[in-house]
Amino acid sequence: MPELPEVETIVRRITPYVVGKQLLQIIIRHPKSVLGDPKMVEGSTVTLVCRRAKMLVFEFSNGNALVIHLKMTGQILYQDAKLRLGGGHPTADWVAQLPSKHTRAILEFSQDSRVFFNDMRVFGWIKIFSPSQLRQEFQKYAPDVIAAEVTSANFFEKLQRRKQTIKVVIMDQVVVAGVGNIYANDALHLAKLHPARLASSLTLVEAKILLAALRTVLQLGIEKQGATIDSYRQIDGFSGSYQDVVRVYGRSGLPCLVCGELIRRTKLGGRGTFFCPNCQPEVVS
Ligand SMILES: [Zn+2]
Repeated sequence: MPELPEVETIVRRITPYVVGKQLLQIIIRHPKSVLGDPKMVEGSTVTLVCRRAKMLVFEFSNGNALVIHLKMTGQILYQDAKLRLGGGHPTADWVAQLPSKHTRAILEFSQDSRVFFNDMRVFGWIKIFSPSQLRQEFQKYAPDVIAAEVTSANFFEKLQRRKQTIKVVIMDQVVVAGVGNIYANDALHLAKLHPARLASSLTLVEAKILLAALRTVLQLGIEKQGATIDSYRQIDGFSGSYQDVVRVYGRSGLPCLVCGELIRRTKLGGRGTFFCPNCQPEVVS
């Protein structure tokens, strides 16, 4: 599942090729994948590509925006006469003939270039918004965890109010946006906090350490251009290498990089949870 660093990586990769180009038309191949009126952005020029939480945002010269959420299996692939690049969920479609049977929409740009939105399981979406609709949509999400407006004091305050485990709470986009499973696991290990601690049991100091740890692992994720856990991890222009520096995610039974104790796996909120029983002791809370 593409997380914040993977989406940020796509933004950085496609920006030089998309900004300044005119969106000629949106070809919809799976109607449920595209919500809103394509005419609101067709004919307009892309002024900015950016990220909000785990969403990719195209802003247009007429003020409207097109937002893509990759969810579990979404991919964004840019292609012109000379090159193809992008990212998201790793599948054979990265290098297959496009469009593929998983292509749900094609954004056709000037200069014979295209952005393919592929989505195997069809949980992802494209939505088209006016400026006021976009503001309303983004209000559903808390500020990005790496945004300066998230302070340790207000992060602590939010944790205090929650009676769930800390791992589940930091992945709740209403608390802070942009934390997915890989980076939640690794941040808790870096912060030396057991993932099953109750969020409300953390002290202000622990909340501060955890917020810093979340930012550290996400920044490292961005630096490594995201993680490509499955196959296809060696394809330039698509994959990332965070999996080579991962702390605990996917490492059950392997030695902790800090103390050598074997990493354990459990499940919290239905998601695979990895921790070192020595570095992250379970305290009664
Ligand atoms: Zn350890």
